[in-house]
Formats: sequence, C-alpha cells, structure tokens
Amino acid sequence: MTELSHADRRWIDTVIKPDEVEKYLRNGRDFVDEELIFGELEANRNPDDSRVREIIAKSLELERLDPSETAALLNCRNDELWNEMFTAGLEIKRKVYGRRIVFFAPLYISNYCVNNCAYCAFRRENTAVERVRLTDEQIRDEVRALTARGHKRLIMVYGEHPTSGVDFIADTLKVVYATKSGHNEIRRANVNAAPLCTDDLRKLAEVGIGTFQVFQETYHHETYRKVHPPDTLKGNMLWRLYSLHRAMDAGVDDVGIGALFGLYDYRFEVMALLLHTMDLEEHFGGVGPHTISFPRLEPAVNTPFTGNPAHVVDDETFKKLVAVIRLSVPYTGMILTAREPEKVRRDVIPVGITQLDAGSNIGVGCYSTDEREDEKEQFSLSDTRSLEEVISDLVDLGMITSFCTAGYRCGRTGHYFMDVAKSGKVHTLCMPNAILTFAEYLDDYASPETRRKGWELIRKELSNLPGEELRNKVAGLLERVREGERDIYL
Ligand code: SAM
Ligand code: SF4
Repeated sequence: MTELSHADRRWIDTVIKPDEVEKYLRNGRDFVDEELIFGELEANRNPDDSRVREIIAKSLELERLDPSETAALLNCRNDELWNEMFTAGLEIKRKVYGRRIVFFAPLYISNYCVNNCAYCAFRRENTAVERVRLTDEQIRDEVRALTARGHKRLIMVYGEHPTSGVDFIADTLKVVYATKSGHNEIRRANVNAAPLCTDDLRKLAEVGIGTFQVFQETYHHETYRKVHPPDTLKGNMLWRLYSLHRAMDAGVDDVGIGALFGLYDYRFEVMALLLHTMDLEEHFGGVGPHTISFPRLEPAVNTPFTGNPAHVVDDETFKKLVAVIRLSVPYTGMILTAREPEKVRRDVIPVGITQLDAGSNIGVGCYSTDEREDEKEQFSLSDTRSLEEVISDLVDLGMITSFCTAGYRCGRTGHYFMDVAKSGKVHTLCMPNAILTFAEYLDDYASPETRRKGWELIRKELSNLPGEELRNKVAGLLERVREGERDIYL
C-alpha cells in the first residue's frame, strides 16, 4: 500500500480539472483572503460590550454576520457575554430548527487512499492499518446491522483511490438504498469523499445522494501545504476549496463544509468557514452550505502527528467556537460527531447543534461484527454510547430525535430548504415530521423505558405545535403510526 503503482499514477493524473477551479476564482485569487481575516481579527481585538450585544441581537434576528462581526465575537473576553452567546445560540437554533436533533450514522466503505495526510490513519504510508473495501454483500450486512438499531440516515465515507472512484461510490449508494427489510431501511445517504469533478458529481446527484461533504481541514494556505504533501492529489488546495461549488453546479444542492480543528489557529478557521459560506452564497443565489462540521483532531493509530497538535483546542474554547459559528450562520445545520466525549457533547449540544451521530463504529465493516478495531479505524471515537442511550439522554434534555428525510425526498433542498427555513415553515413541516419519525423509532426499536418517556415528550411537543388544525392533523398521523403505518410525512 505504501508505493503507488503506474496505474495509480495514471489515474491520479486524470482527476484534477484546472478549469473547474479557475472559473470560480476572483481576479485569479481564492476566497480565503488571509489579509482580510488577519486584518479583521486585529481590528476587532478589543470589542466593547455594547458592540458584542448588538452583534448578538443581529444574530437573533437570524441575519448572517459579516467578517468584522464574527471577528469581534471571537475576540470577546467577557464571560458574562459568552454566556449570553451560548443562550442566544440555543434560541437561534430553536427559532430556525425547533427542539429537534437529526441523527445519522457514519458508514466507512473503503479506507484505501492515495494521499498522505499527516493526521489520518488511512494515509497511504501507514502500514499499521488494515485496508478494507467493502463488497456489496458486506455493505448489505452493515446496513442491516444499522437499520436494525433504528438508523435511517447515513454518511458514507471513502478514502481517495482508483478503486473507490465515482462509479464505485454511485454503486454503493444504490446498494444501500436497495437494502430493505420490513421497516428497516436507509432513507437518506450522505457522502464524505474526496473532491470530484462536475460530471462525476452529476452521477451522484442522479443516484440520489443526500449531502455531499468535503472538509477543507485547514483554510490556512501554508498549514495546508505542510500537512498535505504537495505531490499528492489532496496537496492541491484549490481543487478541494472549490469542490462544493462544483457540487452545487452539478445539482447536488445540499453541501457540507468543515474544518479540522487543531491544525491551525481556531479563530482563523472560523473566519474562513464564514468566507466559504459567503462565497457559496454569492455564487449560488444566497444558498450557503447545508451543514458545517467542526471535528477536533483525535488520536489515530500509528499517527504521531495527532499526539502533539500545534493548535490544540480545549473544551472551553471548543464550546465558544461552536457558539460563534452558530451566531454567524443562523440557517446552517451544525454537526457534532461522536469524536467528542459524552460530557462535551452534553455541554455543547444546547449551544445550537442540529445533527449528531450515535452508536457509531468507524472501523470498516465493524457494525455487523460489532467489534471495535483500532487498525481498521481512521481515528478513535470518544462517545461510544449506543443510539438508544444518546436518544434517551436527549429526551431528558427535552429534545426530539429526528430521522426525518422528507425534506430531501420532497425536493426541499438548496433554495427550497432556505425558503422553508426563512419562512418559519420548519415549525409546521419539519417539527411534525421529526415527531412522526421519533414515534416510529420509539415503537420499532426503543426499550420500554425510553418508549415511555419518549411518548411523554411527543405529547408535550404536540401541544406546542402552532394552531389547532395542525395539532389535530399530526395527532391523527401519530395514531396511524401507532397502528403500524410507516414513513408518513407532511
Ligand atoms: N478521503 C476523504 C477526504 O479526505 O476528503 C474522506 C474524508 S476522511 C475519511 C473524513 C474526515 O475525517 C476528514 O476530512 C478529516 O476532517 C477527518 N479526520 C481525518 N483524520 C482525523 C483525525 N485524526 N481526527 C479527527 N478527524 C479526522
Ligand atoms: Fe486519505 Fe482522506 Fe485520510 Fe487524507 S483524510 S489520508 S485523503 S482518507
């Protein structure tokens, strides 16, 4: 695995299409304007309290912040104001998304990779990792194991390799969607994979991909060069930077951006995530990313780089940066993964998280064997609680678990999702749908105790829905779920 074959090299030479980068540049420059980022962070070094409060008020009006405002929040040194930001984060999330959290599971399909990212156990030179690429039958086994626990949504993850190119990704998506047994099925499969060209992305749009996620890792040009060797595919920063612009152009309208925290200064990365959002909005008629992810660097097998990251983000800072992202982009979904320990997840969820994974196993092929195998994992997970344990915990926090995929299946993505979110229809469409999928989960998969308290929460949330007509309608649909009907949505 450490050496590239001639065939691998020939394939690598075909991947990057320079004109599919150049067309997005402005005056030959990419959107990560480092001068602007450092300048704003410096100019807003000591924001006074009244300015921070004005910015919080703007976020509460659900307006996206400008770089100078985000810089001011990042530089806030007043604990009382940080508490106000945490509270505002929850309020924004409640206004846009309601009291619901969407659940998914990561499904690793192949860990063969031609790249050599310093922080990742799947890097080509790492001989301590066992290479696995699931067959169709193994994928079916994994999907059966996941759906038997109640999962309906996946993020499918791939290394970058000629054996896991776009046709393989498209085929594996089809296998996932076709694996059904009784009520058990995957209704939305998202993908986290290497950047693709526009024609390849069209193929994924055709087979019904949910969100296409590509994390930039770091937006800082010099750091990017240091951790991604320049002679690798991933070493081409701009190919990655515009991967989601290409996805939007190819008709994949839900895209997920992210930064890997620990590689460079967190303030810089948060500013750059905002610039990424703004650039997508400018190119695509006001539609930014569907989700933002903010993984922190985790230890990985035989990967010394992860033992001593240059820019470690401690738990307190992590919560603050999540709050600033929440306030900066009120309409964007925010994903907190099981990389984070249970305690951190409990603490950070209320700041405005909209999506969680749970019951995750990131060893390739390890759901069906139910094993945790370091040498098949990309990094180590911290929150290893089961799906039901996390759901039960959320019920205690008063939050409805959603497995809803109605928006995506009814074409409410991209522009349409933004219209739903901005018009407040989330409360009349998404919340009822979340309740209906939660009821399905409770009746099909939950233990008696979780079922009991889950239904209690459903009754409470039902009474909070706006308008008697809607409440009666959803109560009627819930009755049909109780009688065994499935996949009902508004
Ligand atoms: N090969 C594709 C790529 O690089 O875009 C798929 C992504 S990789 C399998 C999924 C993501 O995991 C990466 O984009 C990176 O942000 C994250 N990741 C890699 N190593 C990590 C580590 N040691 N700790 C936490 N996250 C890590
Ligand atoms: Fe390969 Fe992705 Fe890991 Fe880099 S992060 S080594 S590209 S799997």
